[in-house]
Amino acid sequence: MLRLTDIKLPLNHDEQALELAILRKLAISKEQLQSFTVFRRGYDARNKKDIQLIYTLDVDVTGQDALLSQFDQDPAVRITPDMEYKFVAKAPEDLAERPVVVGLGPCGLFAALILAQMGFKPIVLERGKAVRERTKDTFGFWRKQPLNPESNVQFGEGGAGTFSDGKLYSQVKDPKHYGRKVLHEFVAAGAPEEIMYVSKPHIGTFKLVNMVEKMRQQIIDLGGEIRFSTRVERLELETHNDSHKLKGLHLSTGEFLSASKVVLAVGHSARDTFEALYEQGVYIEAKPFSVGFRIEHEQSMIDQCRFGDNAGNPILGAADYKLVHHCKNGRSVYSFCMCPGGTVVAAASEPGRVVTNGMSQYSRHERNANSAIVVGIEPEKDYPGHPLAGIALQRKLEELAFKAGGENYHAPAQLIGDFLAGKPSSELGEVKPSYTPGITLTDLSKVVPDFVTEAIREAIPAFDRQIRGFAKADGMLTGVETRTSSPVCIKRGKDYQSINVQGLYPAGEGAGYAGGIWSAGIDGIRVAEALALASLAE
Ligand code: FAD
Repeated sequence: MLRLTDIKLPLNHDEQALELAILRKLAISKEQLQSFTVFRRGYDARNKKDIQLIYTLDVDVTGQDALLSQFDQDPAVRITPDMEYKFVAKAPEDLAERPVVVGLGPCGLFAALILAQMGFKPIVLERGKAVRERTKDTFGFWRKQPLNPESNVQFGEGGAGTFSDGKLYSQVKDPKHYGRKVLHEFVAAGAPEEIMYVSKPHIGTFKLVNMVEKMRQQIIDLGGEIRFSTRVERLELETHNDSHKLKGLHLSTGEFLSASKVVLAVGHSARDTFEALYEQGVYIEAKPFSVGFRIEHEQSMIDQCRFGDNAGNPILGAADYKLVHHCKNGRSVYSFCMCPGGTVVAAASEPGRVVTNGMSQYSRHERNANSAIVVGIEPEKDYPGHPLAGIALQRKLEELAFKAGGENYHAPAQLIGDFLAGKPSSELGEVKPSYTPGITLTDLSKVVPDFVTEAIREAIPAFDRQIRGFAKADGMLTGVETRTSSPVCIKRGKDYQSINVQGLYPAGEGAGYAGGIWSAGIDGIRVAEALALASLAE
């Protein structure tokens, strides 16, 4: 197979155009071309009047070697790399001990799946409920029912990304193509086939719920075991000087589970778990994250600005954006987790605190576009002195948001125009906020540090120069956005084990090794492989 990259065709090209483009590029006859598949399809919308689709194609031709030599100077014609996933290990028939995976978010799900596929029959411990029951609790909270601290947007089967836009892209390096394995497994579990080739795939929340159930069943069918409503509270460690060896886990059910190899994939909101690990001496560092607000505009405005007359074209779908601004005060403001045609969601996991995030359905047909507009913050400058100080800062801002929202889980909100002018909002404009259970119009500068307000006030007009209307007065800001990534890193070594606890494999977003669903899944695979190889080496 040959891989052709950078094949550009106009947005509304006809069916034959791809084949013709291949024949033209390779200067071959129709008979020489056996078949082809689309490996990737992206687009270039910089010129709205002439939007181009950009293809990467895998092409089967006769006389491949001779053809390839004609193109040896052309980087856009290469042999298709072997991206198929290959298992690195197989569990022995007389497996002495089953590995344990803590957390059934994307990282734990993939760690458990790969371990199960290799025959290791993992035991998975998840503090939250199975995804259907969890969905009832989460949607219930959005409809004014009490917050369940163990079953919500952050906690439960499927992890933090279950009620999300299900975007599946990130900038992680993936030389071993684990990302393809993640996509393959998602498609096998019911994700749309197109996620294999579109440049910015997304799944949407309802599809994710079904997929997670199917993947759970596969783990069980392969001999794995899943225990819901089971929180890991403490590790059992054997300690020599400053280093520890994992012996087992103390669970919220009162049980003790003996285990010498554990994948710890608890996500960025497991604050109680981070505290327990820190107290037990597990090496943890503070790490940078970002804080700010969710911003909402009408999706039609974003579509128009990005695609002009092509707005609404089904190939393009609802438009997204990615924005960065470097401020005079030395801070950087950027858009994060942009959800086209979606809703802002209540993402709290602790009582008395308000947090925002965003989600969409696969169709991305809701009226508003939303994204987090956040400012990068760093431990040395903004929360020095303690590895868990970032958590304390998150909690403080979430409490301020709870108070400003009226202490009933309504989110504090402000119109963009009022925020820029520094006055509290009292009346909604055209953009209707989508956050439920509701919003309270106020002055958002009360809930974040001054430098955050200052930076976002400078950035929004700068973003308006890229997306006209971005600073429109009646756009909405809702707060507070604090769970952009983990505030801690549970440091691991080259063997993927904690640098001071043998047998503990910190993984995924919570440990500081992933950001997003796709990269968390990739990290789950990496860690599962490391654990399996370490087991076989014993
Ligand atoms: P998590 O998904 O957080 O999973 C951790 C799991 O561990 C949870 O299920 C939790 O209940 C469990 N757990 C925690 N502590 C314990 C314990 N002590 N014992 C047992 N179990 C425990 N990313 C994207 O890439 N695209 C998106 O569109 C997107 N949208 C998002 C929308 C929302 C509303 C949210 C909240 C997040 C979104 N994200 C998105 C981020 C994404 O969800 C995370 O990056 C990803 O889920 C991290 O995966 P993880 O497995 O490392 O952790």
